[in-house]
Amino acid sequence: MMTTKNRAFVLVSIALLSACSTNSVESLRPLSPETDWVANSSEWVFEAESVYAKATEFVREQAAVRPKDSWVVILDIDETVLNNVAYQVGLDRAGEDYSNESWYLWTQRQEASLVPGAAEFIEAVRESGGLVGFVTNRRDIEQLATEINLAQLGIHRGEDFQFLLTRADKNGVGDKQARFGVVASLLKVQGYGDVETIAYVGDSIGDKSAATDTAFFCIDQGAMYGDPCAARPGPDR
Ligand SMILES: [Mg+2]
Repeated sequence: MMTTKNRAFVLVSIALLSACSTNSVESLRPLSPETDWVANSSEWVFEAESVYAKATEFVREQAAVRPKDSWVVILDIDETVLNNVAYQVGLDRAGEDYSNESWYLWTQRQEASLVPGAAEFIEAVRESGGLVGFVTNRRDIEQLATEINLAQLGIHRGEDFQFLLTRADKNGVGDKQARFGVVASLLKVQGYGDVETIAYVGDSIGDKSAATDTAFFCIDQGAMYGDPCAARPGPDR
């Protein structure tokens, strides 16, 4: 059954579509500079691809001295692999803020696109003999839609990645450190030996283990969300 909040979101969406169809785009609110940068700037594309190029170089060097299946790279999902700027554009245009309800509906649409360079990087890790895991603060109730969205973009469980750990904590805790801590044992029960995490890729400070000095590659997502790890995030730097 549709909740009141869900119904409100649908009504806003219909209002947006009506506004577009009658060419009254001027009645929509402008995009924030951060959203506009990610949505429309070739500079953002270049930055994302540059970070993934550096990460690819790093894992290829590591692969040369490590046995196959003995190492793993852990990636965040949102604004690292999946690009949700279309969701943010909708919020900006409607003058709304992020909410768990509208975010849930967005994930169920399975319409996120790829962050430039992400698919090629994952392919490079797998071809180099590495394993890939995702640790995300998407909730467990969003896992199915997330995996379908990834598969539609050519990223498949078992082939391209070995695990996807959502935020399943009953208290809603988003800290990833406990999940980083179970990666080796998780891969062990999947039949891999002693696997070492050699790199993290993310867009927020919390996307890297606090306990190690393991390599961390940070994608600049224009400071749209959270706690960005880019030194000077966003446009006009
Ligand atoms: Mg993220």
